[in-house]
Amino acid sequence: MRVKLSERYAHFDTKVPDILSWARGGVINMAGGIPDPSTILPEIVDIAMEVVKQRGASAFQYGDSQGLPELREEIVRLKGFGDPSGVVVTVGSQEGLDLIGKTFLGSHDAVAVEDPTYFVALPAFKTYASRVVPIPLTEEGLDLDGLEAAARVGLRLLYLMPSLQNPTGRVMSLEERKAVLELAERYDFQVVEDDPYSPLAVSELPPSMARLGGDRVIHLSTFSKTIAPGLRIGFIITTNEAASALANVKSATTISTPPITQLIAAEFLRRGLMVKSVERARRLYWEKLAAASEALKASGVSFQEPVGGFFIWLNAGVDTEELLRAALRLGVAFMPGRFFSVSGGFTTWLRMSVSQTTVGEARRGVKLLIEAIESIKK
Ligand code: PMP
Repeated sequence: MRVKLSERYAHFDTKVPDILSWARGGVINMAGGIPDPSTILPEIVDIAMEVVKQRGASAFQYGDSQGLPELREEIVRLKGFGDPSGVVVTVGSQEGLDLIGKTFLGSHDAVAVEDPTYFVALPAFKTYASRVVPIPLTEEGLDLDGLEAAARVGLRLLYLMPSLQNPTGRVMSLEERKAVLELAERYDFQVVEDDPYSPLAVSELPPSMARLGGDRVIHLSTFSKTIAPGLRIGFIITTNEAASALANVKSATTISTPPITQLIAAEFLRRGLMVKSVERARRLYWEKLAAASEALKASGVSFQEPVGGFFIWLNAGVDTEELLRAALRLGVAFMPGRFFSVSGGFTTWLRMSVSQTTVGEARRGVKLLIEAIESIKK
């Protein structure tokens, strides 16, 4: 018997290329955005063992749907805004995206997203909303006229990554942030600020949208890039009322985030290890980004210089799906731009990630990429 899939399943068929299979056979993997394992501090092993010893079987019970109070307090202390009652701990920020869709979107609602955007966020929005509206994002910024036109028709949520955007690495200026919030006030929509990468910035960032916009903004973040992705700990910071609604929905989704990893994260923060962890990760990724940037500059390719994080976004001037085939033959993988596009555009753009390379591989990967571009242009 064939088990029938729902019509919603189509939203999950994002045709994401098999990134892991590309990495095989000595191919330099500049495709994936998986954190460098050497950024996970070895101290986490001792913390995990101590937590298990101290808490015993209770560490393996169900937990509070909203998240362990001690972790919510640590999160507020770390971020410097919000209230523990307005925090919801999620199974990675990926669950946060789904909970936001489930809790705040009705089947007649529209969601606006940056184009290009983090494509794995789209299934959450497409499943619960009626429309996903792409708002062009260029080096000059988000198309505010386009956003206003979409808002006039009716918008429930705007999904943004204002700091080190995935895939472009771009940072929204303070003026842009304020202009977006003004539109949100005028047209009464909510801004979802997805912020996994800001701790990895090497230059000072404008204040987060949540600080600037208060209740208008639902802030979403994660410990995946700063402590360890396998903890599967993300969090939402919002109003107390919205947080209890989200926790209600979460109780019917995953009941609770596993207490054991919440206890480990809380102890990690309590010991003040975040500063060390973030400084190390920031430095490591920056060395790799700088090596890739230098190699790109030497080759004369124009691109927006990154200010931290994992990614460089560039226009290769040739079809990047065709380019990928040539690049794989030479030994380097990247993500073609089309995967990040809601409008089917960005066909000559690509995202390269340094998260899984060494410094030498980042440099060599760029050289191979340039060779692949030249081989196609010939
Ligand atoms: N949002 C963005 C922009 C991301 O890049 C990622 C991870 N690649 C996530 C959310 C999800 O991360 P996690 O579930 O590990 O917190």
